[in-house]
Amino acid sequence: MPTYYGLRILLDEDVYEPAEDTFLLAETVNVEPGETALDMGTGTGLIALIMARKADFVIGVDINPKAIELARRNAELNGIRNVEFRVSDLFENVSGKFDVITFNAPYLPGKPEGPIDFALVGGETGREVIDRFIDEVPRYLEEKGRVYLVQSSITGIDETLWRFEKAGLRADVVAKRHVFFEDIVVVQARR
Ligand code: SAM
Repeated sequence: MPTYYGLRILLDEDVYEPAEDTFLLAETVNVEPGETALDMGTGTGLIALIMARKADFVIGVDINPKAIELARRNAELNGIRNVEFRVSDLFENVSGKFDVITFNAPYLPGKPEGPIDFALVGGETGREVIDRFIDEVPRYLEEKGRVYLVQSSITGIDETLWRFEKAGLRADVVAKRHVFFEDIVVVQARR
C-alpha cells in the first residue's frame, strides 16, 4: 500500500490513483487551522485527508460511489475523524459554505462510460464539468474563501480564468508543472 505525505492510501482499479496533478494540488492548497473545506471529486480521499490535518471539518464528494467507499476506508485506516465522504454529482448533495474548495477536475473530451472514466473525461468538449463547477462554486464559498481548481493546458486555461471572472471571482494561476505533453496548473479563485 503506498504512502503519500505520511498517509497510507488504499487504491482501487476503479478509482483515480494519485498522480502529478494530485501532488501539485496537495503542495499548493493552503488551509488555516479552524477552517472548513470541501474536496470535489475526492477520488481516494487523499486531498481531503491532507486538508483534515488543519481544517476543523472536511467534506469529500465524488460522483463515483467506489471512490467514496475507498475514501471512507482511507480515513478509517489513518484514524481521521473530522472528514465525511458523500456521493454527489458536483454540488448536488452539498450544502453550506466553505473556506477552501478544491477540485482536481476531469478534462479530456468524451462521454464517461465506466467509473474510472469520470476521473478523466469531462464531457463532449472536455470543459462541461469544469464549467458547471465554476458557475456553481461561488454559492458555496465563504466571503474570504479560496477555490483551488486543477486542470490541464489542453482544456483552456484562459477560458477558465474568464469563466471565474464571469462568475464573480478573481482567478490566477498559482502553480504550474509540465508533464509529458501538457502543463498542469492550479487556478486559485477568490472574491
Ligand atoms: N481528487 C483526486 C486526486 O486528486 O487524486 C481524484 C482526481 S480525478 C482527476 C477527478 C475526480 O473527479 C474523479 O474521482 C471523478 O470520479 C470525479 N468527478 C468527475 N465528475 C464529477 C462530478 N460531476 N461530480 C463529482 N465528482 C466528479
